[in-house]
Amino acid sequence: MNKKRVVILGSTGSIGTSALKVARDIPERMEVVGLAAHSSVEVLAAQVNEFGVKDVCLFNPAGVARLKELVPADTRILCGLEGLCELATLQQADMVLVSIIGTAGLKPTLQAIEAGKDLAIASKEILVMAGEVVMSRAAAKGINVLPVDSEHNAIFQCLQGNHGGSEQVSRLILTASGGPFRTTPAEQLASVTLEQALKHPTWNMGRKITIDSATLFNKGLEMIEARWLFGIPMEQVDVIVHPQSIVHSLVEFRDGSILAQLSSSDMCFPIQYAVTWPERTPNSLKRLNLAEIASLRFEAPRWDDFPALSLARQCGLIGGTAPAMYNAANEVAVQAFVEGRLSFPGIWHTVEAALSSLTPRDYRGSLDIILEDDALAREAAARIIGC
Ligand code: MG
Repeated sequence: MNKKRVVILGSTGSIGTSALKVARDIPERMEVVGLAAHSSVEVLAAQVNEFGVKDVCLFNPAGVARLKELVPADTRILCGLEGLCELATLQQADMVLVSIIGTAGLKPTLQAIEAGKDLAIASKEILVMAGEVVMSRAAAKGINVLPVDSEHNAIFQCLQGNHGGSEQVSRLILTASGGPFRTTPAEQLASVTLEQALKHPTWNMGRKITIDSATLFNKGLEMIEARWLFGIPMEQVDVIVHPQSIVHSLVEFRDGSILAQLSSSDMCFPIQYAVTWPERTPNSLKRLNLAEIASLRFEAPRWDDFPALSLARQCGLIGGTAPAMYNAANEVAVQAFVEGRLSFPGIWHTVEAALSSLTPRDYRGSLDIILEDDALAREAAARIIGC
């Protein structure tokens, strides 16, 4: 049986801890050989000790001394971006799971590709900003890019056995829970509080992504992510609201047949599939009881009330650095909302205004151009918010 040796970049976050649950659940298929965290020293140390990991990275150097006290003396402790890159190319690893928030995952991802490691990607920013670079370099190296985002993992599953290539596909249909304001009248969105935005109806996730789920920016990022992962034109990436989060996404083929992937809402499903692909393996995860669920509900998205979706489609159509700008401006706006400096609709108003003040460029494989335009969009958003 094929056991994968996996490095987890971002092991103390929501995806990282789910990945370790998978490692506990199917130890015969998954071995953790490297762990990296931003600054949660205690949690990281506990993980290192539990899994007997010898190669570790703490991004924030301030905690390294403390980490040393908590782990065995023969543990190799790396830090910073250099440390992440070193872990991403670890000789004994087969696969790198990238679940770091933000742009810090970009460089280690590209280095993992160069080192011939398969990738399991949970960080949307990487594919949104540099999807073209990541996918073309991965193809050139012959490595596999396995999506961990539940929607993309669902689409990936639906596409197994599709032998005709992308021309067989007429639409990728991403499901969206609709977030906590799915039914909130548009005029009430202006008074949404941080506390309300942090209450996600079906998924338990980090703070940034929970707010992105409330504004639907998360779905917008996922539309762009899907476009690159599956090489499908932006026009063919669609969204349907499905409040139950049971159908994780669907693929419509050109003959009108639709395939869907269903499971309970637990990130262990997509993580496990990414690790064991192309095989499947039994586990202890909760099975769906369809008779109990009884019916599945779908609704059209509120395109006009949640402009994040149309903005994403526009940026995906424009291409170049437009998606990176969309992502960067949103990060700044979300931070301002969290700090009480911006209203909830202010998030998309800021992104809209930032995008219309900038001209996206064709980056021609250059990460520097992407990062420059990312910085420009951050500045523009900060200027618009007025800080
Ligand atoms: Mg998702």
